[in-house]
Amino acid sequence: MYAHAHGKHVHGRHVHGEAEMNVVLQDSELLIEIQSPLANLTGFEHRPLNRQQAAAVENMKAVMKDADRVFGLTPDALCAVRSVTLESAVFDEKSISDKGAGKEDGHNSLSAQYLFACENPARLRSMAVHLFALFDGMHVIKVQAVSKGRQKAAALDAQRPTFSFE
Ligand SMILES: [Zn+2]
Repeated sequence: MYAHAHGKHVHGRHVHGEAEMNVVLQDSELLIEIQSPLANLTGFEHRPLNRQQAAAVENMKAVMKDADRVFGLTPDALCAVRSVTLESAVFDEKSISDKGAGKEDGHNSLSAQYLFACENPARLRSMAVHLFALFDGMHVIKVQAVSKGRQKAAALDAQRPTFSFE
């Protein structure tokens, strides 16, 4: 019954193994948003059915809340975490079912929002994303960034986990 969590599964833009990230650096504020299939982070997208799966959800939540563990920003930029917001049906017992999910297609995602305040934003050169090391199911992150008035797109993976703002 967990077959869909293995291998590649496509539904619209939700592709297992891939996540999307939007990054906006404006003045001293750095906003990072991640949209990831739950499969990348927990290995399944339904309501946890046993202790092991409940622990996988709790672990995912704890890791994703810890912005300093998820990101490595240029130290000179002196960026400090201001807020972290995580949203997912898996955190809400009522909105997710045993079999697939509350949604008709059986897929669920995690939305994460990170807000940093940087004392020296001009010195922000790179952002290492540690999610490939933290989660076995995370393979590609497509980044769209706007910083210093410029747009930049990049695809990160385990071999190239660092986004450059240059
Ligand atoms: Zn899915």
